[in-house]
Amino acid sequence: MTFYIITLFPEYFASALNCGQLKKAREKGLIKFIFINPRDFTEDKHKTVDDKPYGGGAGMVMMLPPLDRALQQTPQNSYKILLSPKGKLFSQEKAKILAKQKDIVLICGRYEGIDARLEEMYSLDVLSVGDYVLNGGESAALNIIEAISRLLPGFMSKEESFKEDSFFNDILEYPHYTRPEEYKGYKVPQVLLSGHHSKILKWKRQKSLEITLKNRPELLIKTYLNQEDREFLKK
Ligand code: SAM
Repeated sequence: MTFYIITLFPEYFASALNCGQLKKAREKGLIKFIFINPRDFTEDKHKTVDDKPYGGGAGMVMMLPPLDRALQQTPQNSYKILLSPKGKLFSQEKAKILAKQKDIVLICGRYEGIDARLEEMYSLDVLSVGDYVLNGGESAALNIIEAISRLLPGFMSKEESFKEDSFFNDILEYPHYTRPEEYKGYKVPQVLLSGHHSKILKWKRQKSLEITLKNRPELLIKTYLNQEDREFLKK
């Protein structure tokens, strides 16, 4: 998969894409990143990419021509995303859909955002990573890149591990523990040391349900609950 990242700050991504699993995935050739800076597509000596908003208001707006020229560098049938707090909320479900794409374009806004006509010109999918406002779309783009990349075949060393992640089955993941068995009086739950496979599975399921009920009860509405789950949740 190739990510085309349209950004005024390509340097923002340097360390994030050069460490850990993303670095390994790049080295394996699973993912590729191409940076396109709208500033390279300006026509004045100051390389201007922003201007005052029509109708007044605070801040500056990213101008259409440099963004349009930057987008012309991307494949015509690529999936084009504009990062914006005004967009639809990005989710694991959306990541699964996007993981099937070959080329994804991520447009990172800055200042007050971009000239609104770009959305219509390119039928952009406008996505938000949460109900808060960031300085720019770069960290939002990184969120989306990581969520999608984890789902690509070959990305995880253990193919199954993302299937246990939170949201994969619409609920949150159970808690994890590792050595030592006891630390300052805090113990690992006994069942996890029992070696009893079916009891461990039952414990994991119940912990997932418990955490989901506590932190994100609305998720339980869309997930499949069997009789045992429902009885556990009633307690
Ligand atoms: N004036 C805009 C508004 O209130 O909707 C916010 C602009 S924000 C300071 C600059 C850029 O950061 C946006 O154009 C967008 O690309 C990015 N951004 C900010 N918050 C975001 C979020 N929650 N999700 C995705 N992108 C975001």
